[in-house]
Amino acid sequence: MLAILRERGGLSRAQIAARSGLSRTTLSEITGDLLARGAIVVVNTDARDRAGSGRPAELLALDPRSGQFLGVDLGHTRARVAVADATHEIIASGVDEYPPGSSWPRRLTAGVDLVDRIASEQGINLAALQGIGVGVAGPYPAGGSRQDVLAAFAERFAAPVLVDNNTRFAALAEASGETEAGDVLYVRLADGIGGGLVVGGRLVSGAGGAAGEFGHVKVDPSGGICRCGKRGCLETVAAVRPVLAAAGVDDLGELAVRRDEPRVRAATDRAADALGRVLADAALILNPELIVIGGPLPFAVPEIVAGAAAVIATEMIPVGSGPLIRAARLGDDDGARGAITACFLQSPLLADYPSAVPGSRS
Ligand SMILES: [Zn+2]
Repeated sequence: MLAILRERGGLSRAQIAARSGLSRTTLSEITGDLLARGAIVVVNTDARDRAGSGRPAELLALDPRSGQFLGVDLGHTRARVAVADATHEIIASGVDEYPPGSSWPRRLTAGVDLVDRIASEQGINLAALQGIGVGVAGPYPAGGSRQDVLAAFAERFAAPVLVDNNTRFAALAEASGETEAGDVLYVRLADGIGGGLVVGGRLVSGAGGAAGEFGHVKVDPSGGICRCGKRGCLETVAAVRPVLAAAGVDDLGELAVRRDEPRVRAATDRAADALGRVLADAALILNPELIVIGGPLPFAVPEIVAGAAAVIATEMIPVGSGPLIRAARLGDDDGARGAITACFLQSPLLADYPSAVPGSRS
């Protein structure tokens, strides 16, 4: 039960029962004991998620003071940091910008310094950290390595550190939202196109850490050369720059304003069509329940999400149910939040937790 609460944050007794398979009576004994010990607390009610009538159920969670988790996202132009307590509540956060093209050591220093600044300004005790997740742009940070990240954070903080791609962490954050989904495809249309796969509630990195590279699936065999060296990748059609060029506009603001003009519409339609076909192929292989499309491009032109969804719908076969397709809900802190979620899911950090009922099944 403690593991379930660590992974999911606040849950009602009914939700805990459904996940644990414990009987009502057993669950009641265990929760009573854990509440009495202060190991878990009542944090809120589920009134917010309730559409109908009926008394809201109490939500139980780990004692918020029992652990803190740090998420860091080192992007191309900024570091973003979030700290969550054991109930999954974000208790501190911040951002620090650096010039595009900043060296890797500079970004790493900015990230560590930002953590220190937030801790002192917002009263976070860094000695209480139980896990650190660090997201980096790209499969490997340009000009550095994941070992550099591990070394920099391990040198400064005592908690275990895990490092992964920041877009993949964003996928995990989107999959772990209010409507939890186990099998999710996430794609992000920005200067490049990245993505992530969540299968069975867990982030898939792949054998070489390159799972979810939707941007380099070929959509046009006679298309332009991609930065990866191949020809006609999705990224050459549906990333921000090729869309702006095809539309004949200068930036995303102009793209949004002029999106009903024929040439602009043709450019975004082509991007949506190519994106939809790539996601449809992936959906036929993985049968996800949810596909999330994020990034600044669909944020500027939401019709891209609807256009891709229409293509995906026509490509599905009448077996099982097709995926729900939606725009991303989280903002720029999605990578930092996902890094924290990865800590909750992966770290075996209940060691220091108040011990559970002796001999129980908790
Ligand atoms: Zn490519």
